[in-house]
Amino acid sequence: MPLIRLTYASRAVDALTPPQVDAILSVSRTNNAKAGVTGALMYGAREFLQCLEGAREAVNATYARILRDARHADVVILDCREIDRRWFPGWGMHHVPPLWSTRQRLLRYGERETFAPRTMSAGAALALLQDLAHSAGDLPETEPGPPPAGLRQAASRD
Ligand code: FAD
Repeated sequence: MPLIRLTYASRAVDALTPPQVDAILSVSRTNNAKAGVTGALMYGAREFLQCLEGAREAVNATYARILRDARHADVVILDCREIDRRWFPGWGMHHVPPLWSTRQRLLRYGERETFAPRTMSAGAALALLQDLAHSAGDLPETEPGPPPAGLRQAASRD
């Protein structure tokens, strides 16, 4: 079964408190560990950006469950592709705290310095997540320069 990485963005129906975000992360880590799914979840300004990595069936089943969740809406898939390796192998669901979203980082990948993942291109969203994987220590800093093949394709479309 090939590995895939699915990246989507969505809008929280109500602003979430840190304990509410923690509750999502806690359930996610338990379920994802059983399903062999890994990934990262960013939340800020009532917006979510999440990537799910794992076997195609497992990622599809997880995403189908997430889609039914009434805590968010306006879900858009930014990218879905087969991958040779995971970016977040050590995380059932890596949480990216709002502080990570510094002005410079957001400006690096977006039009503005606000976190607005639903308006990002696939290339920018993947570059942001790859940067995040570096920060989380899942990709060594010495990783060879060129981005993964899929990222090159996405970037060349921009
Ligand atoms: P149950 O716990 O039986 O709940 C039944 C229904 O109620 C489901 O539709 C559920 O989504 C919804 N629900 C549960 N709690 C609440 C609540 N507090 N408020 C409103 N509705 C609620 N789950 C994962 O397993 N892996 C992930 O990576 C993952 N990422 C998520 C990312 C986001 C942005 C969100 C909003 C949720 C995420 N979840 C994730 C949670 C997921 O949507 C399900 O709630 C969870 O998987 C449990 O599913 P269940 O069918 O067992 O639902």
